[in-house]
Amino acid sequence: MTVNESVVSRIVELVSQELGKQEAAIPAGGNRGGLFDDVDQAVEAAWQAQKIWQRTSLEERKKVTDKIIEHLGKYIEELSRSELEETGYGVYEDKITKHKNALYQTPSVEDIVPRMQTDDNGVALFEYAPYGVIGALTPSTNPPETVINNSIIMLAAGNTVVFSTHPGAHRTSNRAVELVNEAIEMAGGPKNIIVSIKNPSMEKTNQLLNHPKVTMLCATGGPGVVKAILSTGKKGIGAGAGNPPALVDATADIPKAAGDIIRGCSYDYNIPCIAEKSVVAEDSICDRLIEEMQKNKAYLLKDKKIIDEMTRVLMPAEDSPNKKFIGKSPAHIMKQFGVELSDDIKAVIFEAPRDHMLVMNEQMMPVLPVVRVPDADAAIEVACDIEHGRRHTAICHSNNIKTITEYARRVQCTIFVNNGPCFAGVGVEGVGNAALTIAGPTGEGVTTPVTFTRKRKCVLAGDLNIR
Ligand code: NAD
Repeated sequence: MTVNESVVSRIVELVSQELGKQEAAIPAGGNRGGLFDDVDQAVEAAWQAQKIWQRTSLEERKKVTDKIIEHLGKYIEELSRSELEETGYGVYEDKITKHKNALYQTPSVEDIVPRMQTDDNGVALFEYAPYGVIGALTPSTNPPETVINNSIIMLAAGNTVVFSTHPGAHRTSNRAVELVNEAIEMAGGPKNIIVSIKNPSMEKTNQLLNHPKVTMLCATGGPGVVKAILSTGKKGIGAGAGNPPALVDATADIPKAAGDIIRGCSYDYNIPCIAEKSVVAEDSICDRLIEEMQKNKAYLLKDKKIIDEMTRVLMPAEDSPNKKFIGKSPAHIMKQFGVELSDDIKAVIFEAPRDHMLVMNEQMMPVLPVVRVPDADAAIEVACDIEHGRRHTAICHSNNIKTITEYARRVQCTIFVNNGPCFAGVGVEGVGNAALTIAGPTGEGVTTPVTFTRKRKCVLAGDLNIR
């Protein structure tokens, strides 16, 4: 086949124009690492990049998200170590698991499935289109994991993202953003589809939330940040706090329930929002459950004076866990109260009334109160009370279908785990996708690419109904 000169020069012209557009998309201050000092520049870069990214094929989007998975897979140990050093929260081995979960169990473009409808009047096509530029706020408790998961799902949906990461975890989050940008470049994707505020602060976050070119917001964090995004009047995905109770009734497999609860509540020293924060157990099996938890390396604290002092120190006021003890080991925490524990102790358990401060408030420490109740009905009522209607996560250990059904109906949680540790609900040793942004307050549930799309309808009137 021969190609004449004018066709060749037209191709060259079109390619140059496209490349020119991409170069123009990078305002001063931008770089390949995606980190910007200035909020306006970050948003402008992501806004320009979105024009290109929106038109990128699903195949290209998949190529980019696959490369993110492959490339960051080489840095799991570095990111886990760095996260632990920077935040001082949690357990290195569990962070490795959390990174693998975020990388290998986050869905990409396959989540976006268009739908069609035909009738006598023609055809309607429903497509999932991007929102545009998303302002995404990430927590201190899963910082790079959330950057990874949010990057994949938001890009797969055709959006670009400006992250405002938690100031207490911004160095590791920045590193994750840089690595994501390296992967995008390797895959031949456009610049600035993922950017971040280099030195985040509350002031810069608020600037981002209110920027007119940011069309969607996503907050993964505590109640303050969910309220902050929802009060902007923009479309917001709010993934807020939880306080997951683990209910154990008399029909449960008690040794298994005890093992699962201790594994779940000690996962990353309890910082995950899904982790068991209290146990509600039927009286008839409560002693056995406690004994079995002790066999699984739980330390039973009985001294009332120490329990009271510990409560005052760990939770000095409602919804205010003492940051010094968040995500710390049982040995570290109990040393403060004159109790020496060996390093292999996974959790501290103690009996507490249902209205106890460490029962009713999310503590994010491997300190697990056990509430004794007369029967399964009372257990359901107390567990629902502890969850506060946040609709986040609840755990159930039971072999009674009636108990499971009634608890699930009443507690209305986004994630409801039966007969397993909490993390089974987010794909670790369980079924389904990873879940780093669990949108209870705004109702989207476990977020996936479709969460970050707008549903659009395209109609062809009169034709293409070919029955
Ligand atoms: P956090 O609320 O302190 O911070 C989250 C992010 O929001 C950070 O980037 C922070 O700088 C910013 N922020 C906080 N308050 C703000 C405000 N008023 N205005 C603007 N920005 C604000 O949360 P954290 O301590 O990092 O994380 C722990 C909390 O997050 C826990 O309550 C946990 O349950 C929850 N969490 C929920 C999910 C979920 O998917 N639902 C996931 C992880 C963590």
